Amino acid sequence: MNIKQKGLLIVLSGPSGVGKGTVRKELFNLTDKLKYSISMTTRQKRPGEEDGKDYYFVTKDEFIKRIEKNKFLEHAQFVGNYYGTPLDKIEECINKGDDMLLEIEVNGATQVRHKLPEAVLIFLVPPTKADLYERLKSRGTETEEVIQERIKKADSEFPEARFYDYIVVNDNVADAAKRILEIINAEHSKRIRVYDEYIKMLKK
Ligand code: 5GP
Repeated sequence: MNIKQKGLLIVLSGPSGVGKGTVRKELFNLTDKLKYSISMTTRQKRPGEEDGKDYYFVTKDEFIKRIEKNKFLEHAQFVGNYYGTPLDKIEECINKGDDMLLEIEVNGATQVRHKLPEAVLIFLVPPTKADLYERLKSRGTETEEVIQERIKKADSEFPEARFYDYIVVNDNVADAAKRILEIINAEHSKRIRVYDEYIKMLKK
């Protein structure tokens, strides 16, 4: 039996190259109950990416205008580009009782933690540091210089894991996605999310 509750805001974060995108896609294969928050970015579209599906691709001017109008839940600069989570869809989704997943970098996740402490924060880590380099290299979408920048950034991001609710090792994409789904299911049974509604229901 499901007890009525607000949807969860789930933040999947971790260093660039850890495989957040791949794990997220696998997670969406496992469940149809989750909504994905499409981010906005000023970075160039990569081959195969679609506007409105992978990201909303906008100019720097457009992005800055939206920051000024408070249109983002969080936003950050990452290796020379802006990325942000549009606010509009989130509230609607959560109030309807649907869960929403944000796949964002560490700085943005910190902003969400401060603004919405009830959000569920998951930090995805690579099994080894060498694994991170290999992933960035095999993606073939970044120059060696950008890869080195991202690795340097990852070094400073690992200690941030201590502020998260969960740490998931991406040793295997399918297992990592399964563990995240288990976390989401468990979060729905957390006393703090269930108790008040359940007591109300008993009194009816
Ligand atoms: P990429 O350029 O590889 O698609 O993304 C670079 C980094 O930006 C990744 O770590 C990705 O998770 C993060 N990112 C994507 N969307 C957002 C967002 O809306 N906000 C923040 N803060 N980071 C994002």
